[in-house]
Amino acid sequence: MTAVVEATDLEKSYGETDALAGASLSVERGEVFALIGPNGAGKTTLVRALTGTTEPDDGTARILGNSPTAVDRSRIGVLPQEFSPPGRLSARELLSYYAGLYDDARDSDAVLAAVGLADSGDTWYEELSGGQQRRVCVGSTLVNDPDLLFLDEPTTGIDPAGRRTVWRLIEELTEGGTTVILTTHDMAEAERLADRVGLLADGRLVAQGTPAELVREHGGSSRLAIETGADLEAFADLDHPVERPEHDRGRAPGNAVVVRNIEPAEIGTVVDYLEDRTITYTELSWTEPDLEDVYLTLAEPTEHERTDRFEGRDGGVGETDLARTGETA
Ligand code: ADP
Repeated sequence: MTAVVEATDLEKSYGETDALAGASLSVERGEVFALIGPNGAGKTTLVRALTGTTEPDDGTARILGNSPTAVDRSRIGVLPQEFSPPGRLSARELLSYYAGLYDDARDSDAVLAAVGLADSGDTWYEELSGGQQRRVCVGSTLVNDPDLLFLDEPTTGIDPAGRRTVWRLIEELTEGGTTVILTTHDMAEAERLADRVGLLADGRLVAQGTPAELVREHGGSSRLAIETGADLEAFADLDHPVERPEHDRGRAPGNAVVVRNIEPAEIGTVVDYLEDRTITYTELSWTEPDLEDVYLTLAEPTEHERTDRFEGRDGGVGETDLARTGETA
């Protein structure tokens, strides 16, 4: 089967900055390939090289069997991160405008319905909510019924219901054979939608695989977060590695001690430990590793994680069960 997107050793520098330092990837028809990575990693440059809006210094890119600059533009759709259509056009007028750019386009009302805006066709773009506006933007990339769709943070600023509408839409599109390159900072979005994920750091795809593969290889061990002000030394006798991360998933800075490599059956021993030493805490929460752990390990390694990575720790990941359990004291 021929890949819909094929990039080999792409390189692109801006002065001293290597935006792409040898990026290769291959995406098959109907796949969602999610590009994740910190700001400045090279995601936009990679998408620009794949869409023919920038010329790589080295390496090759082919999309739909052609060079990105020679491909039939009516077969691709691109949603940039910043996209501000005129405010004084209705949602329907906007979609009709974009449809008018193609010889053969979808009906604007059908596209409005697909993005969950069947009732807002007459509303001016500027009067739609931020989430509705983003859905119109997603709709504008669908008017030509593209075979290959590049979506740069499609759900940023969309409320949870709107986000799910866009997710379902992307799922429907790929079921119909559309290939999607999705750039996102939302790990839940990548985990839900992506068949494969590529993590870019410093212009290189440092890891590629299904979300489950990446979690198994790089997600590390399960973790028990204890919300407590107690010193880390208080946990010295615990039979597991512990750390106090600067930031831990929405908690106040430095407000959690994290016990690593721990199974649910062992939580009781930790509770006993806390009680024996009268260590006060406000919450315990146990989690399996997920894509966010992969991201934090590979893209923004902390001292602890770097050490673990180089010492080669045991992954021990449940690839299907991402359930979280919690207990409040
Ligand atoms: P991302 O999309 O992952 O945030 P980019 O591809 O935008 O990353 O940028 C990668 C690196 O290349 C960054 O250091 C950025 O500053 C630099 N860069 C990107 N585009 C340009 C440009 N047109 N001129 C100069 N530097 C650029």
